[in-house]
Amino acid sequence: MSMVKITCPKCNVDGQMSLLDSRYEGPYRCWKCHENFLLVMDSNAVKSCTPMSQEEFERQRELKKQRDRMKGGAD
Ligand SMILES: [Zn+2]
Repeated sequence: MSMVKITCPKCNVDGQMSLLDSRYEGPYRCWKCHENFLLVMDSNAVKSCTPMSQEEFERQRELKKQRDRMKGGAD
């Protein structure tokens, strides 16, 4: 597990997130402006960070939960 720094594209504040893999695609919420993003990471670097609606954010969160469950991790 590693901590990565994510700069919010909206308000430019730095946030942190822990990653289990060097790759990640899923929801990220800025702690400051509370904007929801779809975050794509590869090799611990941000590939894209695109704003999404609350609805889309909830959907991505569900997808991530399902993926984590399939990996056999404890819920
Ligand atoms: Zn922000």
